[in-house]
Amino acid sequence: MFMIICSHCQAKIYSGDEVKSPKQILRLYKGRCKKCDSPLDPEDFSIEVRESS
Ligand SMILES: [Zn+2]
Repeated sequence: MFMIICSHCQAKIYSGDEVKSPKQILRLYKGRCKKCDSPLDPEDFSIEVRESS
């Protein structure tokens, strides 16, 4: 499981099995968190990768 979490509000911005780069995610959400509407920077993301066993 690959997850990208907003560092402002901890909202899960993306989760799925497909690994995406922060730049792709930014383009998807027009550079803003869909929950708190904060402008997002690639360095602002928390990226978590969880192995599903
Ligand atoms: Zn947010």
